[in-house]
Amino acid sequence: MLNKTIEQWFKENADSVDSLAREIWEYREEPHHEFNSCKANADYLRARGFEVTTFNARHDDAPDTAIVAKFGSGHPVVGIYGEYDALPGLGQDPIPERSPREGYGHGCGHNLMAAGTTSAVCAAKEAMVKEGLKGTIVYIGCPAEEGGAGKMYMLRDGYFDILDCLLGWHPRTNDLAVQEKLQMTMGHAVIEFHGVASHAAVDPEHGRSALDACELMNVGVNYLREHCTDDVRIHYSYLAAGERPNVVPAYAALDYYFRSRDLESCHELLERIKKVAYGAAMMTETTCDFKVDFLHSGCQPLDSFNTFLYESAKKVPPLVYTDAEKQFGATLSKNVTGKDVDPEDALPYKLAEPFHKFYFASGSTDVGCVTYKIPTARIYGLGVPRCMTMHSWGVVASAGSSVGFKAARYAGSILAQCAYDIFRDPDKVQTFKAELDERLKGKCRDQIFPK
Ligand SMILES: [Zn+2]
Repeated sequence: MLNKTIEQWFKENADSVDSLAREIWEYREEPHHEFNSCKANADYLRARGFEVTTFNARHDDAPDTAIVAKFGSGHPVVGIYGEYDALPGLGQDPIPERSPREGYGHGCGHNLMAAGTTSAVCAAKEAMVKEGLKGTIVYIGCPAEEGGAGKMYMLRDGYFDILDCLLGWHPRTNDLAVQEKLQMTMGHAVIEFHGVASHAAVDPEHGRSALDACELMNVGVNYLREHCTDDVRIHYSYLAAGERPNVVPAYAALDYYFRSRDLESCHELLERIKKVAYGAAMMTETTCDFKVDFLHSGCQPLDSFNTFLYESAKKVPPLVYTDAEKQFGATLSKNVTGKDVDPEDALPYKLAEPFHKFYFASGSTDVGCVTYKIPTARIYGLGVPRCMTMHSWGVVASAGSSVGFKAARYAGSILAQCAYDIFRDPDKVQTFKAELDERLKGKCRDQIFPK
């Protein structure tokens, strides 16, 4: 059964959790610029008795983007992490019809993630106080999950090291499940080429085009794909490509993401991409500056921890949507896909059983690097209609509505219950640690942290 204190906390604080989700949804800030979201999230925890530290994860002069909020003392130290960054071009009103807003939108539902996980630490704290449980509950607020590797800065600087274990939740289109995907190792690099400018018509022989180098590098990488395993993903965009056709570009730059199944293969892939870049520089008589921003692992799930989390999840009463919320889901689904959807089937709401088997899936998340160090268990699903694709306007609409808010509270109750169950059974943490050591035995663990 769901712990009574946790249940009571959610009854009394439903409005404030929804307000926090709504506030962060309204801010919809870009990665590494979540200044208002971070402040709102930190203030919420400060007001509820947490010892809160905020800081800028990249140590630049900008305001704070990251949070570590603690309550209690000693072991076990149970962390729960949240994210609050939004995505470009996805602004949308919180209604089931297309109604765009300028700028960013919560197309991955990170406002729900922040509010849900924050509610979890608050409710767990109340249960700890009520029963005099020993241990520390910690909220880790992380910037820039969307390509900014926010957690890598925080892991590099030791903010996760205090934890014995870590919990998380991410909204998604499926019924709620423990995360059993290994996900992909991912790297990010910026490649700059420097050439010589000249008049493209009058004096072309004196020019050395940095843009040509970029184009040849991309052609080379596209040929490289043929000789990679199926798990490899490489994508790029231009950061600079010259200004005008009549000036041979002395400077051009590319932005590269590259992914594969594990750290070892991703390091190998990086070396092969470097060769192509240097080859392009040689061909064009330009110079190449290849900067690796970061390279982080995929995720390492743990069956022992997942099973424990699933047992906690079963204690929480099911998520129930009202007819109006089901209709919101059906209307939104129809407006996105053009297909009629039965309101009873529009929204995910169930708790799925674990497979007890890990599987490879494309896509990456920066929590991967943390899962290689701290035993981590995550749940994902809910808050978004089943037919939706993530990173789309429909997700923004749903994440700004009670469909999303209710899912956040439900997921929050599960994580609070799981944290509570760990405080009641602190030796379990050793089992999680032992499984992590066993699973990573002999595997490459070299991550490249941002400078
Ligand atoms: Zn996300």
